Amino acid sequence: MTLTLLGLLGTGLVDPRSAVVHADDPGLTRGDGCFEGCRVRTDGSGRSQVDKLDAHLARMRRSASALQLPFDADEWRVLVDKALAACVTPGEWAMKLLLTRGPAGGTPVGLLTVSALPAEYPRQRRDGIAVATLDRGTAADAFARAPWLLGGVKALSYAVNMAAQREAVRRGAEDVIFVSADGFVLEAPTSSVVWAVGRALFTTPLDGTGILGGTTQQLLFERAAAAGWRTEAARARVADLFAADSLWLVGSVRGPVDVVRIDGVVRARDTARTAEVRTLCGFGRQ
Ligand code: PLP
Repeated sequence: MTLTLLGLLGTGLVDPRSAVVHADDPGLTRGDGCFEGCRVRTDGSGRSQVDKLDAHLARMRRSASALQLPFDADEWRVLVDKALAACVTPGEWAMKLLLTRGPAGGTPVGLLTVSALPAEYPRQRRDGIAVATLDRGTAADAFARAPWLLGGVKALSYAVNMAAQREAVRRGAEDVIFVSADGFVLEAPTSSVVWAVGRALFTTPLDGTGILGGTTQQLLFERAAAAGWRTEAARARVADLFAADSLWLVGSVRGPVDVVRIDGVVRARDTARTAEVRTLCGFGRQ
C-alpha cells in the first residue's frame, strides 16, 4: 500500500518518510493502541471528503476510552481537514487514524495516513469474494464475561486477523468469516458480515460476541430500514449463511462485497440486490 500522506496529531502533515514512532512505543511493540480505517473520495475538481467521519471518531473515542488513552475529536478533525485539503488527485483513498500509547515516559502519539486503495478491492467489488470459515476459539458470549479481552475495541493488534486471512489464502479463498467455538457466525477480519433473506437484512449481535460494531453495517441498516427493509441482529450458523439469499462482507474502505463461495461451495450471486446494498452503503455501481 503506497503511503501518500502522513499526519501527526498536534503538528499537521509531515514528510511521509518522517520517523514518527519511537522503537519503544507499546503501540509498535505490543499493538497497544487503537485505530480507524475510513474511505476518502476526491472528486474531479480536487475536493475531498471522508465518509461518516462522526461515526469513526465516535468509535475511536470508545476504543481509546477502553484502553485508557486520551482522545480529543476536535484535534483529530483539524488533522483530518489538513489531509483532505492535501488530497487532490481524483479517486478513492484509504485513510487511517492511529493512536499509540507512546514511548515510555512520553505521551500518546496520534497519526493519520492516506494510502492508495488496496489493489484487489476493485476486483473484489466487481467479482465478489471467496471466504473460508474459521473457528475463533471462544464461545459466542465469551466477551460478556471478560471485558479485558477488549471486545468491540478496534485495537492496533490485528495480527490474528491478518493470520486468519493468510490461512484463507492457503485454503484457496481470500477472506474469512470467523465462527465462535459453539458454531455462531461472528465477523470477518476487517468487515462485518451481513446477509439477506427476502427483504430482511441480518448481522451478528454485538452483545457478548466481542465483534466490532461496523459503521458501514450501521449506516446500511439505518438506510435500509428507511427504505422498507426489515433489519435484525441475529445469531446465525454457517448453514444459515448458505441458506440466505445474499451474503456480504461490509466495511468502510472496500464497501460491501458479495460472498460467492464459502469453504469451496459456490453461492448464487444476486447482482441487483448487491447493487442496491452498495448504493445504501454510499458506494456507486461497480
Ligand atoms: N469488523 C472488523 C473486525 C473490522 O476490522 C472492521 C473494519 O475494519 C469492520 C468489522 C467493519 O467496520 P467499518 O464498517 O466501520 O469499517
